[in-house]
Amino acid sequence: MLTRRLPATVEPYRLAANHERLEGLVALGKLARLADEIGEQEGDAVAALQFEVDAQRRHLIAGELQAELRMPCRRCLQPMTVPVSSRFYLAVVGSDASAAEVPGEYEPVLVDDEQLDLLGAIEDELILSLPQVVYHDEADCAVSREQLSSGDVSAETPSRPDSPFDVLKALKGKL
Ligand SMILES: [Zn+2]
Repeated sequence: MLTRRLPATVEPYRLAANHERLEGLVALGKLARLADEIGEQEGDAVAALQFEVDAQRRHLIAGELQAELRMPCRRCLQPMTVPVSSRFYLAVVGSDASAAEVPGEYEPVLVDDEQLDLLGAIEDELILSLPQVVYHDEADCAVSREQLSSGDVSAETPSRPDSPFDVLKALKGKL
């Protein structure tokens, strides 16, 4: 089992020159921007990063990550576990000017003073891979189908215009 933690920062030029591969855990509870998006997290993400230099002397990182995040169900607002996984391709650049020359499949990451903010880059990827909205399965949701159809919670649903049930109701009303 993987128990090693990834370092917060790495030297990407050196790692790429040596074709190194880093694998390790990232403590989700330390990622403040992720917490701003979906609330406090616990547990770890698992990440693997392969550092390479290509024929054009670009310093590249191919990464993979997996995590189980806690996100609020849009219907009942209770937390639910959401598996997230992502593959990403980063190109290390030293300036905004060279970022413009990175080929389309790569995301430029700006490196200052030869140090890459590795945790920041992984946090960015996690945030990019978040689903827009999540719902429990109806059987598991605190707001059951019976409540929805019997009207127990209908008093509050009109105030949530983004609920798909309201959209459905509006559509049915038009037909
Ligand atoms: Zn729910």
